[in-house]
Amino acid sequence: MSSGQIQRVRAVIRGAVQGVGFRPFIFRLAEEMGLKGWVINNTQGVFIEAEAEPDALQRFLLRIEQEKPAISFIQSFEHSYLDPVGYDKFEIRESKDGAKTALILPDIATCSECRREIFDRTNRRHRYPFTNCTNCGPRFSIIEALPYDRPRTSMRIFEMCPECNEEYQNPRNRRFHAQPNACKKCGPHLELLGPAGDVWEEHDSALQRAAIAIADGLIVAAKGLGGFHLLVDARNEAAVLRLRQRKRREEKPFALMFPSLASVTEFAQVDAMEERLLLSTEAPIVLLRRSGCEGLAESVAPANPYLGIMLPYTPLHHLLMQELGFPVVATSGNVSDEPICTHEQEALLRLQGIADVFLVHNRPIVRHVDDSVVRVMAGRELVLRRARGFAPLPVLLGEAAPDVIAVGAHQKNAIAASVGEQVFISQHIGDLETVPAYGAFEQVLADFTDLYELHPAVMACDLHPDYFSTQYARKQCAVEVMAVQHHYAHALSCMAENQIEAPVLGIAWDGSGYGPDKTVWGGEFLRITPGGFERFAHLRTFRLPGGERAVKEPRRVALSILRETFGADMPKAGTLATLEAFSSDERRVLEEMLDREIRSPRTSSAGRLFDAVASIIGLRQVCRFEGQAAMELEFLTHEVATEASYPFDLVDGDDGMIVDWAPTIRAIVEDVRGSLGAGIPATKFHNTLAEMMVRVAKACGEEKMVLSGGCFQNRYLTERTVKRLREDGFRPYWHQRVPPNDGGIALGQVAAASRARARSKKGERQTVCA
Ligand SMILES: [Zn+2]
Ligand SMILES: [Zn+2]
Ligand SMILES: [Zn+2]
Repeated sequence: MSSGQIQRVRAVIRGAVQGVGFRPFIFRLAEEMGLKGWVINNTQGVFIEAEAEPDALQRFLLRIEQEKPAISFIQSFEHSYLDPVGYDKFEIRESKDGAKTALILPDIATCSECRREIFDRTNRRHRYPFTNCTNCGPRFSIIEALPYDRPRTSMRIFEMCPECNEEYQNPRNRRFHAQPNACKKCGPHLELLGPAGDVWEEHDSALQRAAIAIADGLIVAAKGLGGFHLLVDARNEAAVLRLRQRKRREEKPFALMFPSLASVTEFAQVDAMEERLLLSTEAPIVLLRRSGCEGLAESVAPANPYLGIMLPYTPLHHLLMQELGFPVVATSGNVSDEPICTHEQEALLRLQGIADVFLVHNRPIVRHVDDSVVRVMAGRELVLRRARGFAPLPVLLGEAAPDVIAVGAHQKNAIAASVGEQVFISQHIGDLETVPAYGAFEQVLADFTDLYELHPAVMACDLHPDYFSTQYARKQCAVEVMAVQHHYAHALSCMAENQIEAPVLGIAWDGSGYGPDKTVWGGEFLRITPGGFERFAHLRTFRLPGGERAVKEPRRVALSILRETFGADMPKAGTLATLEAFSSDERRVLEEMLDREIRSPRTSSAGRLFDAVASIIGLRQVCRFEGQAAMELEFLTHEVATEASYPFDLVDGDDGMIVDWAPTIRAIVEDVRGSLGAGIPATKFHNTLAEMMVRVAKACGEEKMVLSGGCFQNRYLTERTVKRLREDGFRPYWHQRVPPNDGGIALGQVAAASRARARSKKGERQTVCA
């Protein structure tokens, strides 16, 4: 979305970019393109700020990677769009000392030179799956302690052979001080294990036989960089279905690994930004629009116009994918809802009955790191899951924060810790539903505390008393515990990464979060002030019959919403899909629950409103995975382009203004009865939500607003809202480096705690945390 306005981009580039003419290169490129700003070098990397129109900035970022000095190598390249400050020229600024905190690099995808070596018959590393160099290879997943040195990595158990040692000692060699340096003679090796753990093959024949197994339709558990993947031929419907049955994963889309960029373009549309992401050293899973359905098993991503695709990022993956020459499902090696397996014995136990064979190696994985997920939205990158390639790099704040450790939320948990201006966000941990997941959470906390030698004065957690993360924080005696309201944390995380200050209207829309009034919030408009927040407006509340059951069954939410809307004039049975979805007994029980207010908590959840509409238009009555109904509703917007929207009301309430969706629901029911199909109501509903935000923004009067919460993973909703707010003169901000979902909560908790500390230092009363 290029609104010809001037913007500022801030980029941090890490890797072999110092002392190789990188700054003069950036200077010349910026001058040539007429950009204003600066470039600076410090101990943390090369920092660039540049101002221009968005299109020019995008071209600038792409050209940095394409035209960089030949001897430089980018290990990490993150950028954010920020408000312009009005630079008048481009300059090379004096180097300053950066933050003293030692930086732990994420795991880096295989570089082109290492890739060339493993496919070169004459090279001593021909077909060696653990090849790496100073520019690439494992980092975060093998580091046991700092400083980063081989004896403090899981490579310490391998003694380098004389040839490797010579490379390691030679300053002119690409492997000078490459800590995980290894070769066939001295390094880790592969084994193929049967289901009972017996060794079937070793070394290259293990890889070759694993490839044959995949081609034969078997499920292979493969130990990679940060954990195990389950691999299966993505073209083989029976094999993919078998994986779904065994993994107990009904319809949630699987991630795919493709052999090459060329093979990706046969199945999906790839623009320049998406191509950069696929080929980047972060090598995340990129959500791409399908270009056709031919050739892939239907059950890879049922009824889904998007595919989550990544390219090989270790020599092991390169060798395997070259052997196969076709795309594979590469999903986390876990049982649903549990953390990814990292150890052979654990995998044999936990993946027993799921995988047919196990391709393993003897390089220990020190900590689990899942694949990251990125989507391009509104012309920018949006990180939906921050893990491999990004973790544990810091997000930079505008100013220094006090030392805080934040334990995050309950779903998509990640933790965060602030050290000066830097907030280190952990790798994605996951939903803290199971004992192993909670174990992983405790482990990551201990790990972070050790690695960064943290001595935080404050531990921030969610306000929800039942979250395991909150309960963990409550058990700590040595630190001050600060509970932060969920949607306030969402809004602050978006403010923090966009480096903007209050006053701001925080629009936080998600499935649920605990409100200070002990009800379930989820469709919130919070006026963020320097001192805290006020609930300016929220979506009209409704009941969820059966609580958690209603989250899984959009039809239950829809029934409740229809009754709220129509009261005694409820549409007759036989006229709406929602009503058809129940037996008369089921419906009677639910109506009684609603009437008598039994196990039917009230909520203002925007996520549930999506569910209700999905049910009413006949799209989905029961979800097979979290967020499915909302996702499918978004997909319908592809089918119909319309500017139309539905009516709604904005009225005064006891606790802020109320956005009343009842007129919207009435109009949707009319459209459905008029047999308009599902596409038109779905698109008009999205447009209506954007209009609701515009109307509340006008009532509030703040110029700046942040869009946060899981609902803003929805591309149509985000782009439409950004466009409409801009048209009416507002300045919307959304997420970029940090997920809009609960994976971003920890950053917001850090920000809330540091705001509260800053004020308590000034002697002001703390009113932040409800
Ligand atoms: Zn390399
Ligand atoms: Zn060696
Ligand atoms: Zn949330």
